[in-house]
Amino acid sequence: MVNASAVNHIGIAVRSVDAQRGFYEDVLGARFEGVEEVPDQHVRVAFYALGPADHAVRLELLEPTSAESPIAAFIEKRGEGLHHIAYTVRDLSARLAELKAQGVRLIDERARMGAHGAHVAFVHPKASMGVLTELCEHAAHRAG
Ligand code: ZN
Repeated sequence: MVNASAVNHIGIAVRSVDAQRGFYEDVLGARFEGVEEVPDQHVRVAFYALGPADHAVRLELLEPTSAESPIAAFIEKRGEGLHHIAYTVRDLSARLAELKAQGVRLIDERARMGAHGAHVAFVHPKASMGVLTELCEHAAHRAG
């Protein structure tokens, strides 16, 4: 069990962050928090926040930066749209070992580097009725 403490963010696959900004900023009124490249995953990620800063709901728009990007493959197969839901956890490495022992199918058996210096790992969508699940541990919560 990962004891998720919050929905960390919702990931949405897009062909172009710039083409989607109008909807998130002018229609939803979400706060733009910046763009970051995550070379490891071949993506450019734009962050948005809604609601009070200390309890904000975050959205992550994921734009592929190369054809090798898993996001490029996702868009090719399923089109733009909801890509994953990320949950906040602590001690991600230990949680992954527990999930593996429980027989939960994982994409990442070891944590990798995500945006904002967080450690992240993906659970296989077959383990959760087709919804890709990301586990996210903030740098500030990490021991050592
Ligand atoms: Zn994410």
